[in-house]
Amino acid sequence: MALDIGQRTFEDQVRRAKVDGRPLPRVAIIGAGFSGLAAAIQLARSGVRSFTIIEQSDGVGGTWRDNTYPGAACDVPSHLYSLSFAPKTDWSRRFAEQPEILAYAEELVDRFHLGPHLRLSTSVDQLSFDEASETWRLAVTGSEGPETITADTVFIGCGQLNRPYLPDIDGRDTFSGPAFHSARWDHSTDLAGKRVGVVGSGASAIQFVPEVAAQAASTTIFQRSPNYVGPKKDHPYRATTRTVLNNVRPIQRAYRAWIYVSLESRWLWLKKDSLAGRKLREMFTKGIRDGVVSDRLPDAAVVPDYPIGCKRILISNDWYPTLLRPDVAVVDEAIIGIEPDAVITADGARHDVDVLIYGTGFETTNFLSHLPVTGVGGASLADAWADGAHAYLGLTVAGFPNCYLLYGPNTNLGHNSILFMIERQLNLALQAVALQVAAGSVGTTVAVGEGAYRRDDERTQHLVQNTAWAGSCTSWYKSASGRITNNWPTWTIRYWWETLRIRPTDFDVVAASPEHTAA
Ligand code: NAP
Repeated sequence: MALDIGQRTFEDQVRRAKVDGRPLPRVAIIGAGFSGLAAAIQLARSGVRSFTIIEQSDGVGGTWRDNTYPGAACDVPSHLYSLSFAPKTDWSRRFAEQPEILAYAEELVDRFHLGPHLRLSTSVDQLSFDEASETWRLAVTGSEGPETITADTVFIGCGQLNRPYLPDIDGRDTFSGPAFHSARWDHSTDLAGKRVGVVGSGASAIQFVPEVAAQAASTTIFQRSPNYVGPKKDHPYRATTRTVLNNVRPIQRAYRAWIYVSLESRWLWLKKDSLAGRKLREMFTKGIRDGVVSDRLPDAAVVPDYPIGCKRILISNDWYPTLLRPDVAVVDEAIIGIEPDAVITADGARHDVDVLIYGTGFETTNFLSHLPVTGVGGASLADAWADGAHAYLGLTVAGFPNCYLLYGPNTNLGHNSILFMIERQLNLALQAVALQVAAGSVGTTVAVGEGAYRRDDERTQHLVQNTAWAGSCTSWYKSASGRITNNWPTWTIRYWWETLRIRPTDFDVVAASPEHTAA
């Protein structure tokens, strides 16, 4: 399934450049989550050591470093949540929990000797393309103050879920008790015996609320809309299963492939008005009505009124049992204000709480709005994306040469593993960087052409109209204007195919001028 063509093509060009005594590109990687680590590993495997990973926090792991809330775990089976070219095969359970995934990310640093390339606690404040030298300039601030890093090639791996979103609620800052976002969990707050308010009921909340409710005196969930929550077939692996999966390669591979195929088949649920989606909705609705709807939890509080798949389909075995606890309340009136010790809702009710936890998700559709980026002619990426972020196969933008976004616009999924998508993006990006190395790493530019960039966007926006996400719900996949900026709109096998081999006609390669080559 992997067919690591990008890495092999790139490695071949690197070998030739070394034989000819030609320079290799200096590569800057922004972010040390799975995207950045995967890019670094592929460079290292190809024989390139001229790269720097710049990470704003003091450790690697990205989202798995940030999200330490109780109950944090992956909802993609572990054996597919691992890079095919740097796999972890000894998982302790079917759906790994956050500490095990973070440990995997940290272990990759040692396994591929990435430590010397890491610049931790360093933020990239600006990224600009310098046409005179055909290089990227990164204005960074680290422990030794501001400096500029120069790179021939840039990978941006900032993630889609890295900036917590806090709703702009009247009086939010007046709350006098502990208040924090799920991705910035305050482990010093003891919840035992407290009245806890939780804003939001999405993928993070369904994982931490059961843990919170088990400690708190009472838990009030302020919910804007309910989700479809199905069972999670999770379990620790038995010792023998674990040994076999860790040591017998054909079984390992077959298991991984089976997980991929079974998740991929779920795409049928996400097509607009599909029969599979309608049947699934009926099944969920019946299950929720039979097992959960009650006087305390009326239909409107737990049965979604939008098509299944419009928001992420969630899995948990303890969400609904938690909602049924006598010390847990679901409030589905809108919040209109926050006071020092209470949340006020639109019906005028005052809900006394000691602690407030925001499970309100992330800033998702305004990609890279925290990082000013300018390309050829000083054009700003923010202006290029004024109508919504988009990139050729989620990877690269016309006018921004030698620059690759990993987990970029329209590469998120509702049904399969993001690590698969990151690998596919790298497969294509490395072929583009191979063109750069072949034409002289320094001073050569490789950029997607305007026509290919525009056609790709039109195709994506056309396909996205045929998905469940275009249905009648709000979600973090949609911008305020309704444009779906985050998700890949069809089978991932199609993404695999489209990223398999670079289409040279889609890219403009401008080779290094003699003075660059001489340098
Ligand atoms: P989310 O799914 O965007 O959920 C945010 C929640 O906050 C929603 O329930 C939303 O309501 C609510 N909300 C937002 N603003 C509000 C307001 N002003 N008043 C009341 N409620 C408000 O965020 P998340 O739960 O952090 O999850 C984000 C994504 O992270 C997931 O979709 C998933 O991709 C990823 N994730 C993955 C895993 C995993 O297992 N792999 C686990 C956790 C998270 P509405 O729904 O009505 O907008």
